[in-house]
Amino acid sequence: MTFNDLHLLPELLKALHATGYERPTPIQQQAIPHVLDAQDLLGVAQTGTGKTAAFTLPLLQRLTQTRPQNQPTGARAVRALILTPTRELAIQIGESFETYGQFLKLRHAVIFGGVSQHPQVQALKRGVDVLVATPGRLLDLIGQGFIDLKRLEIFVLDEADRMLDMGFINDIRRILPLLPKQRQSLFFSATMPPTIRELADTILRNPVQVAV
Ligand code: AMP
Repeated sequence: MTFNDLHLLPELLKALHATGYERPTPIQQQAIPHVLDAQDLLGVAQTGTGKTAAFTLPLLQRLTQTRPQNQPTGARAVRALILTPTRELAIQIGESFETYGQFLKLRHAVIFGGVSQHPQVQALKRGVDVLVATPGRLLDLIGQGFIDLKRLEIFVLDEADRMLDMGFINDIRRILPLLPKQRQSLFFSATMPPTIRELADTILRNPVQVAV
């Protein structure tokens, strides 16, 4: 299978070509068609399998194809939220949006704790389509009124098992009620013990499960 077979936008194929990827990895082959189809997804995959591109590529495509009309720049609401446990992962995911989205016109920002919030707030004020965040800083900036999730279309929970190991369950429980009920959700975890499955059940609606 090639990336062409996945019916990705020419802009995404061009970015993949520039990146030098030749074919989709198994998680990409399995996940991308379902995400493009607007389905919820439960992905059991470790880091290193190509899972970041498995959600980043179709997410960029969905946001491009359903772009709201006549939205003034600067007044953009967040359309996709990717929640991830660590600063390093947040930065990596941000770089994926940068790379794969280089020929599209979507804007993203990455927010995480332990650093000044000022540049992050400035980026949010300019307006972003895609927000990559760690839970604590996200709640902090929501509390200060800098982030509006009312028009969220896609929610991604990345590395769910690590989130729980790091003690983020209460933060996640506080974030979930702030998301629109009508949305597409993607849930990734390297392992799927009962507590993770329960969390997935509260987030996903009729998910397709893929495992690599
Ligand atoms: P991830 O599992 O998302 O952390 O990705 C692991 C690594 O695989 C990253 O360095 C990606 O740049 C790389 N990668 C992702 N998809 C592909 C692909 N289809 N072909 C080659 N490398 C890839």
